[in-house]
Amino acid sequence: MGKHYLKVGQYTPATDESEVVIDREFYRQGYIFKDEEAYETSFDKICYIPELSDTAYTHQIFLDMMDGQEALARDLFDHVDWQHPETLLAEDYADGEYDDCPVCGRMFACYAKAECPNCHAV
Ligand SMILES: [Zn+2]
Repeated sequence: MGKHYLKVGQYTPATDESEVVIDREFYRQGYIFKDEEAYETSFDKICYIPELSDTAYTHQIFLDMMDGQEALARDLFDHVDWQHPETLLAEDYADGEYDDCPVCGRMFACYAKAECPNCHAV
């Protein structure tokens, strides 16, 4: 049995004959395209499109947004459900879920952690 990937809506890339087609479906809070298989199997495939714009996100874009840290990129991809990932990330920062270590400058997920997991600065 193959893995069951989350797939919301359909994204059809442009061809010589046709333009990009984005079919959104409802997911949690809004109408989006989200493709877990595209995220897991490629850095360049479109894996997420928010409700309010046609901005297309790839795994690489999530990774770039999250300091190049795969676990954080995956976390953001998993949680985004209608908004732009940048917006969700800004909210998470505001809520104290993420922070940048004042010592090494790396981003990290705070949760209950008191120290930076990268350099262990408190
Ligand atoms: Zn640090």
